[in-house]
Amino acid sequence: MKVGLFGANGRMGRVLIEALDLSDDAELSVATVRDDSPWVGLNVGELAGIGKKEIDCSALSSLSGSDADVMIDFTLPSVIESNLSWCVENTMPVVIGTTGLNDEQLAALDEAAKHIPIVFAANYSVGVNLMLSLVRQAASVLGETADIEITEAHHRFKQDAPSGTAMAIGEAIADELGRDLKTCAVYGREGKEPERDQGTIGFATVRAGDIVGEHTALFADIGERLEITHKASSRLTFAKGAVHAAKWLYGKQPGLYSMVDVLNLKL
Ligand code: NAD
Repeated sequence: MKVGLFGANGRMGRVLIEALDLSDDAELSVATVRDDSPWVGLNVGELAGIGKKEIDCSALSSLSGSDADVMIDFTLPSVIESNLSWCVENTMPVVIGTTGLNDEQLAALDEAAKHIPIVFAANYSVGVNLMLSLVRQAASVLGETADIEITEAHHRFKQDAPSGTAMAIGEAIADELGRDLKTCAVYGREGKEPERDQGTIGFATVRAGDIVGEHTALFADIGERLEITHKASSRLTFAKGAVHAAKWLYGKQPGLYSMVDVLNLKL
């Protein structure tokens, strides 16, 4: 199966090159970078630090519909709509890992999924997707009495906050409790506050150094607390999950799928 990349020179793009190199049944067929990138024409293996490979990076504008069976996109929210348009025009299935999408960009995703199969996940690690199921279970038992706080930490370069994964954890908990995250979320606290409103779900964000990604869902009552934590130590875990999703997606009907579908997790 031929897999193509949008944003091959990004932090995730580079590990996706490595993950495809490690895969037995999917191969990198095209690695696009921005037209003005100094990487146009340079070797993908050298970009990923894994030694010279057969493919060189190509300019995004030269991408053709026959270059790949499935595309993978880990880029930026500002690019997502044009990449989706290209995929729809070329009937190209796409795996999307880009986070921090606004309502308009999410609507574009829904619209594109009427025409092509798409996997969209805020986090492609198996552990985080299992965590989404575990927090639902914790919320169903403890959620009405415990204070719920979600904390996350990422590297200094990350552009969106809270992370897409923290939001997905919050949404899973809110959904389980029949709450609307848009109205019950509290993002950060400072200064004097009245006593904590028990119906809220709090978020706190850390940005520092090279932290790959850490998430904790805390359920705290008087006398005990439960913490469910996931720590990613390598981006390769996300990249391998995205390659797995690409293989799963090939040949699927148009629609918007998640890693819960890919991993067949029972929520
Ligand atoms: P990065 O900044 O290193 O890479 C961004 C990529 O987008 C680069 O290749 C860049 O060239 C490309 N790009 C930017 N502007 C462009 C344009 N105008 N046209 C074409 N390409 C353009 O970021 P990153 O750390 O690789 O993360 C990328 C995205 O993936 C972020 O949204 C991040 O939050 C998300 N992410 C998701 C997961 C997951 O499991 N879903 C895991 C890690 C990161």
